[in-house]
Amino acid sequence: MATKPYSLDTLAVRAGQERSQFGEHAEALYLTSSFVFKDAAQAAARFSGAEEGNVYARFSNPTVTTFQQRLAALEGAAGCIATASGMAAILATVMALLKAGDHIVASRSIFGATQQLFGNIFTRFGIETSFVEATNIDAYRAALQPNTKLVFIETPSNPLTEVIDIAAVAAVAHQGGALLAVDNCFCTPVLQRPLDLGADLVIHSATKYLDGQGRVLGGAVCADKALTEEVFKFLRTAGPTLSPFNAWVILKGMETLKIRMQAQSAAALDLAQRLEAHPQVARVFYPGLPSHPQHALAMRQQKSGGAIVSFEVKGGRAEAWRVVDHCQLLSITANLGDVKTTITHPASTTHGRISPEARAAAGISEGLLRIAVGLESVDDIEADLKNGLG
Ligand SMILES: *Cc1c(COP(=O)(O)O)cnc(C)c1O
Repeated sequence: MATKPYSLDTLAVRAGQERSQFGEHAEALYLTSSFVFKDAAQAAARFSGAEEGNVYARFSNPTVTTFQQRLAALEGAAGCIATASGMAAILATVMALLKAGDHIVASRSIFGATQQLFGNIFTRFGIETSFVEATNIDAYRAALQPNTKLVFIETPSNPLTEVIDIAAVAAVAHQGGALLAVDNCFCTPVLQRPLDLGADLVIHSATKYLDGQGRVLGGAVCADKALTEEVFKFLRTAGPTLSPFNAWVILKGMETLKIRMQAQSAAALDLAQRLEAHPQVARVFYPGLPSHPQHALAMRQQKSGGAIVSFEVKGGRAEAWRVVDHCQLLSITANLGDVKTTITHPASTTHGRISPEARAAAGISEGLLRIAVGLESVDDIEADLKNGLG
């Protein structure tokens, strides 16, 4: 399918599909680990790369290729490489593009496993990371070193929904000769397209909104062809590639991505407004609210505030846990990006292994709760929270 003349809505349901001889309407699921050649010469040509085509599913698979083309079309990227999970996408990016002696500058407010990977694992291989305050552009500039190869951010951040100016960080990274990677998991290309704002790489955990129904793990790296080719070379050798089954499930999820993101974001704004008016709520963190410190930037950079709302209950851990424990509808789980609304207490779960002092410094208080708003009625979500809020 030609991708150029079509809008995002159309690409989300059509891009990347190539029908087989059977003329199937829905995307085919090719559950095969290897591919056969018509003769020895073709086998040789496929292996040498002289002829394009599938060889082995660690390298490529038609269902995975369809997923890659569809996500690339949505992100406005020339290339996309699918990975086994979001973490595999981050691992593959760094392993492919950096070497011992190189340096990363990363926002302090990134996903916990990404922090561990950068701060505790890459250090063993001679790659150091400086963590900086998420929204302070000067801090990124100050942290740059001659050997800085990558700047890594996530916006809005988890769980405080801080919004980082992608264009400003891209300018700083490029002045320093580094690439900018943006983890676009929270917004998806429906709400934010980092490559249009100057980023070089977009990272996805497809496990979240792209699937959208909490079924499978997946990930992806979107960038220009030269960068994705490097990531591909690492991935085809090292192995954390996306399974065709998971690619097929995520493809089906992507067909409803836009309407889910719009509906879940609208519900999140509604819920955020109701929570802000509640007497037992000390503070609400949601980029779509005028009270949010980066509201103007968020409205410029994103199509809406997204579907994650965090709020601080008056009191502390006991009061926050009371809200969680009185939920009958909301799922108590740290996952997000699902059509089923989830609730988590970051200080004792996702951020539980950080020291209390570091947590307090990061602004993650004992009364903080994070809601990933799904597709239930906002009245029902609000009523469930009020059970324990009073
Ligand atoms: C979940 C998540 C990841 C990791 O993705 P997995 O698919 O679980 O490996 C990375 N970044 C963000 C922002 C996430 O929410």
